[in-house]
Amino acid sequence: MIAREAENFFTQKVKLLNGELVMVDKLKMYIGGEWVEAESGDTFSVTSPVTGETLAQLPKGGREDVKKAVDIAVEAQEKVQRTPIKERIQLAYKVTELVRQNIDRYAVDLTMEHGKILKESIIEVEDVTPNMLWNAEDLKRVETPVLNAYSKPNMMQIVVRDPLGTIGVITPWNFPWVLPAEFVVQAFLAGNSVVWKPASYTPISAVHMMQCIEKAGIPPGFINMVTGPGNIVGRALVEHPMVDGICFTGETTTGEDITKRAGLKKIILELGALGPLIVMNDANVEKAVEDIIFGCYTTGGQCCCANERILVQEGIHDKLVQALTPKVKKMKLGDPLKDTTDMGPLNNESVVQKMERHVEDAVNKGGKVLAGGARTQGFPTKLYYPPTVVDDVSTDTLFNKVETFGPVAPIITFKTLDEAIEIANAPRYGLSMAIHTKNFRTALEASRRLHAGQVCINESAYYWDYNNPWGGFRKTGFGRVAGKWNFEAFTDLKTLVFNIGRSEF
Ligand code: NDP
Repeated sequence: MIAREAENFFTQKVKLLNGELVMVDKLKMYIGGEWVEAESGDTFSVTSPVTGETLAQLPKGGREDVKKAVDIAVEAQEKVQRTPIKERIQLAYKVTELVRQNIDRYAVDLTMEHGKILKESIIEVEDVTPNMLWNAEDLKRVETPVLNAYSKPNMMQIVVRDPLGTIGVITPWNFPWVLPAEFVVQAFLAGNSVVWKPASYTPISAVHMMQCIEKAGIPPGFINMVTGPGNIVGRALVEHPMVDGICFTGETTTGEDITKRAGLKKIILELGALGPLIVMNDANVEKAVEDIIFGCYTTGGQCCCANERILVQEGIHDKLVQALTPKVKKMKLGDPLKDTTDMGPLNNESVVQKMERHVEDAVNKGGKVLAGGARTQGFPTKLYYPPTVVDDVSTDTLFNKVETFGPVAPIITFKTLDEAIEIANAPRYGLSMAIHTKNFRTALEASRRLHAGQVCINESAYYWDYNNPWGGFRKTGFGRVAGKWNFEAFTDLKTLVFNIGRSEF
């Protein structure tokens, strides 16, 4: 039965590609304009969460590979800075054109290595273009001030923005196209050379993006990619004395490790979150349910701004739960390549185990599972976990303390707005939070008291736009990215001071 399912998935994959069998096999990393093996010759495999098949082998890089890539990037940096902005922008355009030519193929490979449904994979690959090009447009209109000196009348001060130098970009597996699209080419656009370390669960998408970067004609050494384990390759990049900035997206614990090892480098940390969606008594139930479903189960809940907790005011609790549960039960878990599927497998075993731990912990503390709640059998891998609803979740549960990063709506009931805000802020994560209410004053008060980089009113916490200053408070890290904020993150201010009081100047 399981073998037949796997065969079925595979046949569909081939069909989807119009008969072209895409076997991604021995892939390489990209250093100094060449596709290379690791110095050690070691490799690691990528296994599909969808079928369990081995999709590819990649070089298992080490410290020596990072050193080689950083040496080359440092050497190239001045050339990047001297490349006219116009040329850098044309190269970025070319990268997006090449990505667009192959969206279908890239999306299938993304689904196969990640597990997200094909519809979402297509949207993710399509999103590369606006993400990359927003910054390119801003770059055409950079303005910095000229300041009159305050202390001496004969001084003039011109403020400019300089690139940081060489930037290490480290990205996670959950959005292996969109996140590198926000950072890798952006850092180059701002005049930096780059060494990129992609996630080990989804490196096939990274290789595809790197191929587009190469084909677009971005010169050798400007952008390099080293694959391999985070605790070796990522750490070596973070600790390297010639790397000037680290742009990291990933878990809060990894971010904490980076702050200890990075020394005085400029760091941008986009970390984990525990976004609540608050539903007040006066909310529109239908819209709240729609936003809960979207924000809890899209990408299997494996998104930094997923609704991690549903805080429901007691007066609307029963109505909301009655409207939500049957809809979640109807959602179809299965083959992520099929149009009719709502959710595919989760990406890896540790995500599923975390779901299991959090559900068990909530149930032990009085929670009731209303939908899902355990792995579904009969699929080619053990990673198929259904959309889950847990009611009567108490505030002392793991759901309310640490990020779950899985397909679940844990329902916590509260009495007053003060209580909801206290629960929302208590875990000290602060990326995206949401509130549903028809009362404008309540919405404004909540948005001022919720500690988060973004507060969504009558919308899911699972929301972002290309031009938002994206980033979080507290345990979600620091720094802002997306749109023009990327340019600010990847550059620093420099003041040119002129003494214009002397005639010989
Ligand atoms: P991890 O922190 O496990 O890994 C992220 C990246 O860091 C991977 O490339 C990983 O390599 C590498 N890495 C691992 N250990 C180290 C280390 N000690 N030093 C340097 N690099 C290291 O995160 P996940 O990949 O599991 O991603 C999920 C997390 O990312 C969630 O917490 C999510 O909320 C967060 N996230 C935050 C976003 C935001 O905007 N705030 C956006 C998207 C995700 P390897 O893969 O080889 O282990």
